[in-house]
Amino acid sequence: MNTPDIQPDAAPPSPRRNQDILEFYRERIMYLLTLAIVVFVTPFAMIDFFEGHYFLGVATFAVVVCFCIDGYAIHVKRRPPIPFQFLLLPTVAAIGTSLRTDAIHGALWCFPGVLLCYFVLPRRLAITASLFLLAVSAPMVLLSLGQDIALRFVVTLALTIVIIYIITDVIRELQTELMGQAITDPLTGAYNRRQMEFALDEAIERHMRTGAPASVLLIDIDHFKRVNDELGHHTGDHVLKALVLLIKNRSRKLDRLFRMGGEEFLLLLPDTPAAAAMIQAENLRNRIADGNLLKNRPVTVSIGVAECKKDVSQEDWVKIADNALYSAKETGRNKVVRADELDGDATAPADSEGDDRRARTR
Ligand code: GH3
Ligand code: MG
Ligand code: MG
Repeated sequence: MNTPDIQPDAAPPSPRRNQDILEFYRERIMYLLTLAIVVFVTPFAMIDFFEGHYFLGVATFAVVVCFCIDGYAIHVKRRPPIPFQFLLLPTVAAIGTSLRTDAIHGALWCFPGVLLCYFVLPRRLAITASLFLLAVSAPMVLLSLGQDIALRFVVTLALTIVIIYIITDVIRELQTELMGQAITDPLTGAYNRRQMEFALDEAIERHMRTGAPASVLLIDIDHFKRVNDELGHHTGDHVLKALVLLIKNRSRKLDRLFRMGGEEFLLLLPDTPAAAAMIQAENLRNRIADGNLLKNRPVTVSIGVAECKKDVSQEDWVKIADNALYSAKETGRNKVVRADELDGDATAPADSEGDDRRARTR
């Protein structure tokens, strides 16, 4: 069997590089951290008082109290009153006081201090804050404990910062990969059906609120079963990927492509009335027909176009576009049909009989 020339595979959407990886977990982390701080830090605050280091004792207690205020708010499901990044202030004050009181003790507290930066701050800020802590504490350790200890302190704290950086980098990569998998179709990289439902609801809500137009193109490959039957499923898969790549390359950045299932895709065109959507649909249809998706055999699509109407549900909007697509299939394929130019009550969503008809035809 001939292996037809195919376009390169479609890539999934690129992840956000600077996202705050702990954003959704921060409250839970801070709650657990509060428990740990109460258990491990409170005894040292008491010892400081017993040893007559009142200033250090107050600073250390301040850390515990601030964490407890936020921790309690999280426990009772309220918004924490102290922004998490402000918890660094009493912490740095306590570490600084500890460095001045007894440098070796302060130096040891720098290590959990650096970790705390990564828990309470977005990653970039955390790097800056931890380097700042290193820069401030190193001279204090050098002055109090001499060159040998200071050198080891700087190297071990720097190494800790590097290790946390590597760990958070790996977590971020994994997280973006998982997020990509959760919202896209693994074969083509187009967004999945669930994302489509969110996006259509959003477009409808925006239309109702601001009157902004939006249209959908429902795109279905013509006689795709024959491609599979005659050239194999693998070639069929490559046609799907190449089609998605072509549509993405021919769409604006704000347009979003979803795989509805099988060889059927929905392209959402925000801020686009039906007339403009028709131009885009014709453009795509032509490009696909001339696009050499398969070298020795034309691949064509039929497209149904429907504009968002007032009070429409997302299901009905898709069904209206589906009526238009059905008409394009019925009247010859390789065609674009606009829903509101169909005869009769075609802009009404299809009834179950219509669904059956389509199921038999496509
Ligand atoms: P029409 O012009 O009426 O749309 O005809 P059609 O052959 O395209 O439509 P039909 O619904 O009869 O066939 C769709 C085919 O799509 C059948 C199924 O094997 C194929 N298909 C669905 N999902 C995939 C997939 O992920 N990969 C491949 N290779 N084929 C798929
Ligand atoms: Mg088809
Ligand atoms: Mg189909």
